[in-house]
Amino acid sequence: MTTWVTDLRHLPCVDEPGVPAAAARRAEFVRELVEAATARRVDRSWCSAVRCIARSGRKSCGARIQVGQAEAGRVEWSCATCGEAGVITGFEGTEHDLSGHRLRKKKVRVWGFDDESRELLRAATTHIPALRAVLARARPVDSVPGLLVVDGTVDEFDEMYTLVEHLTDATRSRRRRELLDELRAGLCTAIDGF
Ligand SMILES: [Zn+2]
Repeated sequence: MTTWVTDLRHLPCVDEPGVPAAAARRAEFVRELVEAATARRVDRSWCSAVRCIARSGRKSCGARIQVGQAEAGRVEWSCATCGEAGVITGFEGTEHDLSGHRLRKKKVRVWGFDDESRELLRAATTHIPALRAVLARARPVDSVPGLLVVDGTVDEFDEMYTLVEHLTDATRSRRRRELLDELRAGLCTAIDGF
């Protein structure tokens, strides 16, 4: 069982050349955890959509990671399946600190999507922190394997819808277009509040 202690400022940048694949993967994992932990106003730790990257032999653990902020400036995370855990500091005020995009309104809608959509949209929102914050709030639903849900405002989902429309116009891949069509339908449902 490993406990990782990471200062976000010491990680390699997203596109830094020459970084070994394993180090780049771990840096991305840490950034995802910081985004999840800062994007929701929750007192206790909660189960995020982020998947564990610990390896046992040739298989990656893949379980969802529990995240929380026990105190300001300190993210704690753990994997209930393999026991890996860690502490992250040094993220406050960085672009991965999404605490400025937490939900303030009480009246929110719920939007559901899956891991594949989450990956697609994360890649498309690298420079849109307000929308990355929406994705970072995603959490699994125990009763429906594979389903992730987020709370958000109608305005946030509207903005996400516009992004998905742009992505649909720009794609030539049939698979990607199908996925984007599903996302638009899901967002419509969330916006209408059915
Ligand atoms: Zn694990």
